[in-house]
Amino acid sequence: MFDIVVIGAGITGSFTASLLAKLGYRVCVLDKQVAGHKTSCTGIVSKECLELLQANPAVIQQEAHSARIFSPSGSFIRVDRESPQAYVLDRPGLDSFMAARAQSCGAEYRPHTLVKSIDLHDNYITAVCRHARQDYEMQAGAVVIATGFGSNLTEQLGLGRINHYAHGAQAEVTCRGIDETEVYCGSAVAPGFFAWLVPVGKSQAKAGLLCRNNPREYMSSLLKKLADEGKIVRDDYPVNYGNIPLKTLGKTYGKRFVVIGDAAGQAKPTTGGGIYFGLLSASEAVDVLDASFKAGDLSARRLFRYQQRWQKILREELTIGYWAHRFYQKLDDRQICHIFDVIERHGIHESFLTSPDITFDWHGKIIIEAIKHRSLQRSLAGFNRGMLARIRQGGRPK
Ligand SMILES: Cc1cc2nc3c(=O)[nH]c(=O)nc-3n(C[C@H](O)[C@H](O)[C@H](O)COP(=O)(O)OP(=O)(O)OC[C@H]3O[C@@H](n4cnc5c(N)ncnc54)[C@H](O)[C@@H]3O)c2cc1C
Repeated sequence: MFDIVVIGAGITGSFTASLLAKLGYRVCVLDKQVAGHKTSCTGIVSKECLELLQANPAVIQQEAHSARIFSPSGSFIRVDRESPQAYVLDRPGLDSFMAARAQSCGAEYRPHTLVKSIDLHDNYITAVCRHARQDYEMQAGAVVIATGFGSNLTEQLGLGRINHYAHGAQAEVTCRGIDETEVYCGSAVAPGFFAWLVPVGKSQAKAGLLCRNNPREYMSSLLKKLADEGKIVRDDYPVNYGNIPLKTLGKTYGKRFVVIGDAAGQAKPTTGGGIYFGLLSASEAVDVLDASFKAGDLSARRLFRYQQRWQKILREELTIGYWAHRFYQKLDDRQICHIFDVIERHGIHESFLTSPDITFDWHGKIIIEAIKHRSLQRSLAGFNRGMLARIRQGGRPK
């Protein structure tokens, strides 16, 4: 019998397994695939996130100092800082590294093991697993659900499912003359979201997008557009798909279990980045589980502390981000172009770049600053007052 079973050998599962194994818990990580299979992620993280990961520098593919953000009309705003603003990581390589580290800390890994269901008992949990066409049961003191977006385990445990999400698509492409990240906005490329071309090295890049529906069609148009513009050499690269939660689960804990990462919906609704917030929440989960094991109390009441703790860190940020995303979704191309125009004309992006409030991970403050900015406030006023008020309200109770 293990102390803790972690379901999912993705980034949050392996990070959690390492921390728990280091604390001396007997940990088993189960994954229906093998750690390092995830190819639908760009792997862009901040310096803070990189430090938290303590990953092998070999997984860093590129430092990002600057980006060009294109409006629907094709004009762009360039943001540039001297120091690197983000790092592009080899996501499969990172996941393999994190799994190897957790194993070196003592965690046991069982790949190709699908967890079909979880039964909660007074003194233990049972995970019903399927491996090599055989079903078997595993017991442990507690379970961490790190299954990524869309697993039915949360629903089985009575936590429901996240219905608000974005479709993501990405391809590894060969590019020409692209030396900084490009972001594309507008209804033709990625309605309600954005698309990207992120260079990783001299001639390689990751091209991808988020959208509400039809990811295959939008991705095929994006690749065609980039090839027509001569930015990438072909338009028929293999594409990987994945979904990103835009809202969190209402409840992320219960008797003898916690839910972390994309399974809990801990991703930024503004950009879809989920690695950093998943890791921050995983750290909180480990602290709470450790204290709960020590107290001999793994009741739902006790594990509620996990939810309180991650929400204290993320709730306001996620709420502002969610409403900012909804606001953006309602804008048409003309309105987006107008906002670009105002930002450019008043040098708003430049003043924000020097602001200490602008960080790669925390967007709440800068969103609030932006909508309060005199020139933007005037332009935005006519758009959608209700939603602007919700953004301003942030996570604060009404
Ligand atoms: C196109 C795209 C681009 C992205 N780019 C970025 C980015 O640049 N930066 C960023 O921070 N985030 C990015 N993200 C988001 C990021 O990929 C996720 O937030 C992150 O992978 C979540 O990690 P996780 O550990 O919660 O889940 P995952 O990495 O999805 O891992 C879940 C694991 O659980 C396993 N599993 C699921 N169900 C079961 C089961 N029943 N039994 C056993 N195993 C199971 C799966 O096989 C998987 O290995 C992107 C996402 C997409 C789709």
